[in-house]
Amino acid sequence: GVKSYQFMLRTKNPCGKVPNKLYLVMDDLADQFGIGTLRLTTRQTFQLHGILKKDLKTVMSTIIRNMGSTLGACGDLNRNVLAPAAPFARKDYLFAQETAENIAALLTPQSGFYYDMWVDGEKMMSAEPPEVVKARNDNSHGTNFPDSPEPIYGTQFLPRKFKIAVTVPTDNSIDILTNDIGIVVVTDADGKPQGFNIYVGGGMGRTHRLETTFPRLGEPLGYVPKEDILYAVKAIVVTQRENGRRDDRKYSRMKYLISSWGIEKFRSVVEQYYGKKFEPFRELPEWQFKSYLGWHEQGDGGLFCGLHVDNGRIKGNMKKTLREVIEKYNLDVRITPNQNIVLCNIHPDWRDSITAALDQAGFLDPRYVDPLNLTAMACPALPLCPLAITEAERGIPDILKRVRAVFNKVGLKDNESVVIRATGCPNGCARPYMAELGLVGDGPNSYQVWLGGTPNQTSLAKCFMDKVKVHDLEKVLEPLFYNWKHKRQAEESFGNFTIRMGFEKLKEIIEKWEGP
Ligand code: SF4
Repeated sequence: GVKSYQFMLRTKNPCGKVPNKLYLVMDDLADQFGIGTLRLTTRQTFQLHGILKKDLKTVMSTIIRNMGSTLGACGDLNRNVLAPAAPFARKDYLFAQETAENIAALLTPQSGFYYDMWVDGEKMMSAEPPEVVKARNDNSHGTNFPDSPEPIYGTQFLPRKFKIAVTVPTDNSIDILTNDIGIVVVTDADGKPQGFNIYVGGGMGRTHRLETTFPRLGEPLGYVPKEDILYAVKAIVVTQRENGRRDDRKYSRMKYLISSWGIEKFRSVVEQYYGKKFEPFRELPEWQFKSYLGWHEQGDGGLFCGLHVDNGRIKGNMKKTLREVIEKYNLDVRITPNQNIVLCNIHPDWRDSITAALDQAGFLDPRYVDPLNLTAMACPALPLCPLAITEAERGIPDILKRVRAVFNKVGLKDNESVVIRATGCPNGCARPYMAELGLVGDGPNSYQVWLGGTPNQTSLAKCFMDKVKVHDLEKVLEPLFYNWKHKRQAEESFGNFTIRMGFEKLKEIIEKWEGP
C-alpha cells in the first residue's frame, strides 16, 4: 500500500490549461520529487504521486511560483472547473473557457493561510476580473458571511466536494451530466453568447450495498442571461452550503439534496438567493463525445494536436519526447477530461517536424491505437489510492486486450468499440457509471459490471452483475458481445443494445451460453 509519509498532490487548472512553463516545471518535479511519471486526471489536472513530506513545501511553492495552483484541488469546496480543452478560436468556446475561469476564481478560498504556508507569506494570487470580485462580495440576497475572510464558504466550507463544468452545445468532452453544476453556453444565430442553460445534481460516487447511495445525472434547472451566471452559480452553491447534509458524508453531495427535495423545491430555494426566476431551459442539439485527438485547425491560423495518453500516465519515452517538443516550440498544453493532452498554438510550418519527433519516439499515433483504448478510462486505484479495493489503472490494459480478443472471436470489426471505464472502488473517479461497460471494484480481483451508458455520456448505466472475478470476464462478455453483434439494430451502440434487451434476458443468455 501507499506509505503514509508519501503524499499525492493535485494541481488546479481551469479548462485544463497548462502554460508552457508550468508543464516544464511539472515534468521536472515528477523526476526530482515524485515517482518519475506525470498523471493527467479526469478533472483536467496533474497528479503527482509519491511526494515525501519533507519535499511538499518545495514542490508546492515551485508550482505556485510557476503560475500553477493546487488551491481547491482537494477538500470540501469547489474542485477544478472543467471546460473543453480544444483551443478553438470560436466565440462560444472562448466564452465557455472564460466563464470556467471566472467561476474557478469566484469559488477560490480567500484566506491567506494557504499562501502563507507554501510561499512564506508572499501573496501569489493573480489579479481577478472586477466582475468576479463584485459577485463574490455581493450580499444583496443574504448569501454571504459578510465579516468572514471567506464570504462564500465561511468557516465550515461546503458539506462535500463540489464539481462544476462549462461547455458549448454538442461538445460533451466534459461529461457534463456528472457534475454538481453543468453549464452550457447558449448563442444567438451568429454564434454570439447570450446566456447559459444550467443542469444541477449530477454525481458519481456511491457506496457498495447501500441502495440509498447512487450515481445521478444532472437535470435541467433553467436558463440565465450571460451577465447573471456568477450570481446563479453562487446561489446554487449557497443553497447546498445551507442545506446539504453535514451529518453523514455518504449523503452530503448536492445530488442527494436535489433528489430528496425534488427539482421544483430546489429551484425555488436557489431563486431566493439568486433574487430572480430562472428562465426556461433552451432547446439544445444532441450531445457528442469529442476527443480532439490528431491535428486540427484552431481557426486563428494555428494548429493543435491531441495525443492519446493511456490512463493519463505520461512516462518513459513519451514523457521525454513530449518535454522536448513542448520546450523546443514553446507550446502551451491542455489536459482533457479524458486524461489526454492537447498541444496548442502550433505554427503550420512546425507540423511536419513535430509529427516526425512524435513518430520517431514510437509515440502512440492515434491511427494505430485500438479504439477501445481511446475512450477507456481507469482511476489510479492500487497501489496509489487508499480507498482502492482492487486494480484499475494497472489492470485495464490487459482487460482491453481481452475485450478486443472477444470482439475478434465473435466477429466484431477492428474499428468497432465500446466505452469501457474501470475504477478500484465505488467512489467512481473515472466515471464508470456513464460507461457502456463499467467495471467497479467490489472485492480482490473482482468487479461489479455496469451496463447501459451511451457513447456520448448522456445516460446512466445500471448494475448488471456483482462480484465478477477478473479472470471470469469472458464468461460474461463473450455472450454479451456475440448477441450485440448478431441482434443489434442498425447503428445501435452496445449500451443501448443492453438496455433494449433488458438485463433479465441478458442474464439468461449468459447462463445458457455454450460458445459462439
Ligand atoms: Fe481511488 Fe476509488 Fe477514486 Fe479509484 S475510484 S481513485 S479507487 S477513490
